[in-house]
Amino acid sequence: MQQESVYNKFYKKEGDKITCLLCQHYCKLKNGQTGVCGANKNENGKLKNLVYGRLVAMHIDPVEKKPLYHFLPGSKSLSIGTLGCNMQCPFCQNWHISQVRESVNNTDYISPSNLVEMAIKHKCESIAYTYNEPTIFYPYACDTAKIAKTHGIKNIFVTNGIESKEVIEDMPGIIDACNVDFKSFNPDFYKKILKSPFGILDTMKLIKKKGIWLETTTLIIPGENDSEEELNQISLFIANELGTETPWHISAFYPQYKMHDKMATPIRLLEKAFDIGNKNGLKYIYIGNAGITNTTKCPSCGIDLIKRKAYHILFNKITKGKCPACNTKIPGIWE
Ligand code: SF4
Repeated sequence: MQQESVYNKFYKKEGDKITCLLCQHYCKLKNGQTGVCGANKNENGKLKNLVYGRLVAMHIDPVEKKPLYHFLPGSKSLSIGTLGCNMQCPFCQNWHISQVRESVNNTDYISPSNLVEMAIKHKCESIAYTYNEPTIFYPYACDTAKIAKTHGIKNIFVTNGIESKEVIEDMPGIIDACNVDFKSFNPDFYKKILKSPFGILDTMKLIKKKGIWLETTTLIIPGENDSEEELNQISLFIANELGTETPWHISAFYPQYKMHDKMATPIRLLEKAFDIGNKNGLKYIYIGNAGITNTTKCPSCGIDLIKRKAYHILFNKITKGKCPACNTKIPGIWE
């Protein structure tokens, strides 16, 4: 069922243990032991992915829902997820699947080629590996993506940004676009609240360097990551290290899972973040999860290029990747 050739790349033997190379936890596993994510196990000296092909979530979504706004606008993306995750975010909206750690499940097996057939049947232009953290099932994503590419279907990673450098090095030619969660600029927030290494900055720089289309999302949680200082740090990092053309999605938080002591993000806070990003030179900032209209404007002549309401495209004037009025190239993957 699993393709050993792909799989062998993502662990190494060290004495009587193996080290999983799929994410920055780099779990060292004794025989029979399962990693932090609950999805990868040392079984007789080999890494076994317990969730390979065992999908627990599958929907056809507009690509805008990922969110990706500069990637095949208006297209459909077959979106899938499994059990498990390598973070423990107390505000996770998919906690009922991501926080399960007994990841062996009896859902029907869907092979990579079956999944691609579904994408073709439903006229999806991409497959999105999402809902839980796809790095923990990268061997499945990778096997599927390679088949999808042969049918002209693109592949999207919606990720928390702690995949290993080994996985990112493997992505070019397989994964076309990533949306990386930029949850905070504070390493302690990652370590203490999310129970995760703080490696997202290097991840995003490497994704960019590898030529994979990158957009990033910050969920603004009142009292956690909404200070002027932190919003400046986040947007300055995007501007200086990833480029002012990198889309920044500012997303509204709603209380859920273990985080019910915070209020939903007020619109004025999202607008404050927008203004800070704008001041720091970001050209494409979008407010999400708040039911408001988002517009992509030409950074040169200022005309409205794409207008969206929630996840729907009201109009798209971009022509061959350019502004039709002044011919400025608009960054993204448009066709
Ligand atoms: S994917 Fe990450 S958390 Fe899971 S076993 Fe591998 S290194 Fe550990």
